[in-house]
Amino acid sequence: RSVAIVLGTRPELVKLAHLVRLLGPAAHLVHTGQHYDADLSGRFLTELGLPEPTLLEGVGGKPRAVQISAALTQLDALFAAEPPLAVVVQGDTNASLAGALAANSRGIPLVHVEAGLRSHDRAMPEEHNRIVIDQLADVLCAATEDNRDLLRAEGVPSGRVAVTGNTVVEAVQEHLPAAEERAALLAAHGVTADRYVLATVHRPENTDDPAALRAILSELAALAADLPVLFAVHPRTKARLEAAGLGHLLAVLTPLPPLGYGEFLALARHAAVLVSDSGGVQEETTVLGRPLVVVRRSTERPEAMDSGFAELVAPGRAIGRAVRRRLAEGEAGLRRLTAAPSPFGDGLASQRIVALLGAMASGQQPGRLS
Ligand code: UDP
Repeated sequence: RSVAIVLGTRPELVKLAHLVRLLGPAAHLVHTGQHYDADLSGRFLTELGLPEPTLLEGVGGKPRAVQISAALTQLDALFAAEPPLAVVVQGDTNASLAGALAANSRGIPLVHVEAGLRSHDRAMPEEHNRIVIDQLADVLCAATEDNRDLLRAEGVPSGRVAVTGNTVVEAVQEHLPAAEERAALLAAHGVTADRYVLATVHRPENTDDPAALRAILSELAALAADLPVLFAVHPRTKARLEAAGLGHLLAVLTPLPPLGYGEFLALARHAAVLVSDSGGVQEETTVLGRPLVVVRRSTERPEAMDSGFAELVAPGRAIGRAVRRRLAEGEAGLRRLTAAPSPFGDGLASQRIVALLGAMASGQQPGRLS
């Protein structure tokens, strides 16, 4: 019997790719279509070496409740026709929640990759998604010991939780292009290693609030007077920017379309500083050894801050101040980060998760991991 991998967005493809490949023909990839366009999913399937997924319909671009219910209905039909051995979901998207509910409704063991993250920000739909998924999951793969402790504090039985590390570590190790190719990519973008800023912004708290979006872009535009600011523009951000009349601020940056994974990693690896509100970038930066300014109200990944890689700032002047502080640390600061270990694991998380699935297949009851 197969293992159903249910996903719907770019970061899930990145973080589950290695696991899917390790599972080989046993993996049945189901894409809900939450973000299914060429830039955010199509080309990632090819680049990450993933099989063609079963693609659900009527999910992308819909309100959250419709996304979850449309995906749930279709997943239930799929699982009824061919019950998988287990369902694997990753993170906190609407796709993950739909996969979790579908597994739960059919009594199929549910594995949650990247369990135990909490921002404690109830305004974030992702926070509600991850709490519900963790409650439903039979096997919770925590990236760090702190994530495991948090789950225990919430009353999740310890036998359901395994500390595996975060699968993003092997994703970076595998897809970071070799030095020569990175040099060619930097040259193609007209930038020099350690002499540019790389930015991404896509969270609704930043894009859907015109004042916040203006504050972030103004800070990036001010920095662009001193060094190139490459800005990989997410489709949502592009739409909101245009609606808010902020195109003139974009014009002084170096705007880029959403990049392929290897290209993004190559640019991130050599940026003097990254500015982002992304969840995955908070983890990747610790593997790449680069400083990151996180533009968010809260984070569910305090490990990136505690280990000195990242800092959290609100939209506004604090962004420029934090970037300039990092720039002032110069080469010594970059060397310190390159030498520091990632708090998110050793690159073997996917292998550990496959071992857990193997134990389930050979009859070990979920809920008795240790
Ligand atoms: N990413 C990418 N190309 C880009 C911007 C980001 O490949 O132009 C990758 C990034 O390295 C990370 C993932 O996309 O692995 C993060 O996705 P996103 O920021 O959309 O989601 P989040 O991590 O915030 O859930």
